[in-house]
Amino acid sequence: PGTTRWCFADQLGPHFLDHPDQPVLLVESRAVFRRMRFHRQKAHLVLSALRHRAAELGERVTYLQTDTYGQALDQVREPLSVCAPTSWGSRDLVLRRPGVQVLAARGFVTSEADFAAWAGRRTRGGRPSGRRLLMEDFYRDARRRHDVLMDGAEPLGGTWNLDHDNREPPPADGRSPAPEPWWPVEDEIDERVRADLDRWEADGDVSFVGDDGPRLFPVTQAEARTRLEDFLAHRLGAFGPHEDAMLAGERWLAHSLISPALNLGLLDPAEVVHRVDAVYRESLAAGDPLPLNSVEGFTRQVMGWRDYIWHLYWYLGRDYRHGNALAAHEPVPDWMTELDDGAVDAACLSGVLGDVRRDGWVHHIPRLMVLGNYALQRGIDPLAMADWFHASFVDGYDWVMVANVVGMSQHADGGVLATKPYAAGGAYIDRMSDYCGGCRYDPKKRLGDDACPFTAGYWGFLERNRERLAGNQRMRQPLSGLGRLKDLDAVVEQEQRRGTQPP
Ligand code: SF4
Repeated sequence: PGTTRWCFADQLGPHFLDHPDQPVLLVESRAVFRRMRFHRQKAHLVLSALRHRAAELGERVTYLQTDTYGQALDQVREPLSVCAPTSWGSRDLVLRRPGVQVLAARGFVTSEADFAAWAGRRTRGGRPSGRRLLMEDFYRDARRRHDVLMDGAEPLGGTWNLDHDNREPPPADGRSPAPEPWWPVEDEIDERVRADLDRWEADGDVSFVGDDGPRLFPVTQAEARTRLEDFLAHRLGAFGPHEDAMLAGERWLAHSLISPALNLGLLDPAEVVHRVDAVYRESLAAGDPLPLNSVEGFTRQVMGWRDYIWHLYWYLGRDYRHGNALAAHEPVPDWMTELDDGAVDAACLSGVLGDVRRDGWVHHIPRLMVLGNYALQRGIDPLAMADWFHASFVDGYDWVMVANVVGMSQHADGGVLATKPYAAGGAYIDRMSDYCGGCRYDPKKRLGDDACPFTAGYWGFLERNRERLAGNQRMRQPLSGLGRLKDLDAVVEQEQRRGTQPP
């Protein structure tokens, strides 16, 4: 069965083992929960998943509950092997430890070596150049190499990218385009996790943010597969068109809700995309084809964006996280840290923050275009925001958040990941959601008591970064719009006064 495999809490599926009978070491480290103030449901999910995996492995597992990883490893006599873990800090830890063999990372469709070879062909003198590290190129390359949604050398259906079909506003009736997702049922392991977390909190040892609540996300491979199959059978067809839309009362819409299971390592993303491929071909053969824009859009998220963000975390190096190209130094405001949606009047921000408090999850557009957009406009420190997302979201990990938040959402890398900042005014949120109708602000107004904080904040952001963005071709038009605003001084003064007070 080979050496004992040490699996971290985000390496829980069988694809992190070489052999079904391999002995396994799992460590439950309390110190991890003191390092950051995590969402209560995230702490629950991670502990529950670890303990469920231990229960499945039975006699094959050594399960150690200690304060630090070091204390656990000091109790282990036999040699260990580990798949390269997912953060710079944890890689340092395993590399420093004598007697631990570090293997290539798993849990992604493409390998680090594949990405390095792909990216190496697109850089000059070893310096990464954003233009040439396009996600679209990487994704097409990965689809070819892994034969996903391919028809020989061509993409199935003749087109690589169907994003233009996937930008519709929410359904006009305000209802979700898909049926309710499948939900897991808690068991006695969850009960013990809940009691332990209550005790740790009562002892003052750790503290959490967000609501406790029934567990919404899978903790075993079986649960994760049930969620995936339910999505493929009932929800995938509706995923594409409204994937960027938001509805105040329908927070799941047609999203798959599998990112926490993927990031815990319960589901193998290669299995997911091949399964999507098979389900699509079955629907074709049955004469009732699933919409290709939904199938392609979902595949793009799982093997395109997710793998790309993972590889950039390593490829762009340790210091990438410290990028701050727009000199944003405001701290994350307390009302955001505390997920205090009650303090906020702005209907979109309050609604999204309330969803995060309740579930530890919202889909990618509330993250990017409401929470991230707000932080970008208000000049909140990019790394502090990445840490906030890491702590507050059930699927948040360092590798996910650094490139997504510092790079894509806060434009702090100066344009390596995204050619222009994801800043948008209230008109975007009004078009893509039903929030504005019930809001005390007016998305069309930039000045006055009812001036939308996103619309006014957008102009304040452009004015503050006018010089920094002047060389960016894609910002030429917005910046020239700035020059035509007669009330700009008053808007800027108003937004400086508002700052990061709860809007
Ligand atoms: Fe958000 Fe502005 Fe719309 Fe209110 S008016 S919901 S603050 S975008």
